[in-house]
Amino acid sequence: MFHEERRFEQPIRWGMVGGGRGSQIGYSHRNAAQRDGLFRLVAGAFDLNADRCRDFGVNIGLDGERCYPNYQAMFEAEAQREDGIQAVSIATPNATHYEICKAALHAGLHVVCEKPITFTTVEAEELKALAAEKQRVIGVMYGYTGFPMIHQAREMVARGDLGEIRVVNMQFAHGFHNEAFEEKEPGLKWRVSPEVSGPTYVIGDIGTHAFYLCEMITGMQVSRLSCMRQSFIPSRAPLEDNAHVMMEFEGGAVGTLWASAVNAGSMHQQKIRIVGSKASIEWWDEHPNQLRFEIQGEPPRILDRGMGYLYQEIEGVAASHIGGGHAEGYFESWANLYHRFALVFDAMNRGDEETAASIWIPGIDAGINGVRLCEKCVESADSQSAWVDF
Ligand code: NAD
Repeated sequence: MFHEERRFEQPIRWGMVGGGRGSQIGYSHRNAAQRDGLFRLVAGAFDLNADRCRDFGVNIGLDGERCYPNYQAMFEAEAQREDGIQAVSIATPNATHYEICKAALHAGLHVVCEKPITFTTVEAEELKALAAEKQRVIGVMYGYTGFPMIHQAREMVARGDLGEIRVVNMQFAHGFHNEAFEEKEPGLKWRVSPEVSGPTYVIGDIGTHAFYLCEMITGMQVSRLSCMRQSFIPSRAPLEDNAHVMMEFEGGAVGTLWASAVNAGSMHQQKIRIVGSKASIEWWDEHPNQLRFEIQGEPPRILDRGMGYLYQEIEGVAASHIGGGHAEGYFESWANLYHRFALVFDAMNRGDEETAASIWIPGIDAGINGVRLCEKCVESADSQSAWVDF
C-alpha cells in the first residue's frame, strides 16, 4: 500500500503555465500534484487572457499577485522572491512547449511538460542538454504509466514470465472526432492545426501514450517503422485523424500501433497486448485495475490490482492507494507519477543525484522518443509508407 506519511519539511513550491479555466488537462495536473502534499501550487500563468488567469487563480486559492499575465512575467517575478517557485508544469498547446520549457530551465526550475514536448527531436535534444547543464529535471506527463498494473506488467516482462517478446499490439483509438467538431471545440481546433499541434494530430496526441506504454513495459527499442496516415475529415489534412504504424524492434520483435480519433463508438480503446514465446499480457485503460495474463495451454487469468500475488517489489510510489476490489483510476495514476516527480526534484535540490537517478520517471528521453515517433511516422507516410530507420 501507498505510504501516506512520506513528507518533505516543505512542499515543493510549484507553478503552472496553461491549464486554465475550461482547459482539458489543467485540473488533472493540480489534482495529481497536490494529492500527497508534496507540491503546493503558489503561482500560475494559466491562461492567454490575463484577467481570466487572475480571476481563475484567485478562485482556486492563489494570491492574485502571483497570477501572471504570461510565463515570462511569472519566471522573472518568482525568481526575485525568497519563496519563489521551484518547479513548473506546462499544460499549454503543443507549439508553446519548447519555448516555455527552455525559459523555465533558464529560470532554474524543474519542469513537468505535456507531450509531445516539442515539434522536433533537435529541439527536444536541446532541452535535454540544457536541463543537464542547469542540473534540473524534465518530467513528461505520460499519465498512464503511473497505474500499478503497468508496473506489474513491466516486472513480469523483466522476469521472463512471458518468455521472449515477439509481438506488441498497441492502440489508442477513440471515436470522439468522427465528425468535424473543430468549429465548435477550440481544444480540437488547435489539435488539427499544424502550426499549433505540430507535424501530427493523433500520432502525437494519443499514439505517443500507447507507444510509451510499450517502451516502458518492454524496454525494447524500435529499429525501423512504416506508417500510413490519413484524414477522414478532409479539412484536417495534412494532419491525420487515423494512423497505422508497423514497427520492428531491435532483437527481432515486431509491433503495430493504431492511433485514431474516428473509431466511431469507441471511448478510448487504449490497449496494449504483449505476446511472448510462453505467454501474453493485455491491459486496457478503461479497466486499469486488471491485467490479463494468458499462458499458452492454460485458462486465461485476470490479475487484479492490490492483491498479494502481484510482485511486491513494485510497492512504494507505484503502489495502490486502497486495497483491491475498490476501483482506482486515472487520477491515482497521475498522482503516482507526480509523487515520483516530487521525490526526484527534491533529491536534485539536495544535490543527491544518485537518489534522483534511482527513481523511475517518464523523463526527457521518453519525451524525445515520442517526438521521434511523430517525425518518423510523417517521414514514412510522406514516402508511400516506406520503412524508415528509427
Ligand atoms: P486546452 O486547449 O484545453 O487548454 C490549454 C490551456 O492553456 C488554456 O487554459 C489556455 O488559455 C492556456 N494557454 C494557451 N497558451 C498559453 C500560453 N502561452 N501561456 C499560458 N497559458 C496558455 O488544451 P489541453 O487539451 O488541456 O492540452 C494542453 C496540453 O496537454 C497539450 O500539449 C496536450 O497534448 C496535453 N494533453 C495531455 C494529456 C495527457 O494525458 N497527458 C491529455 C490531454 C492533453
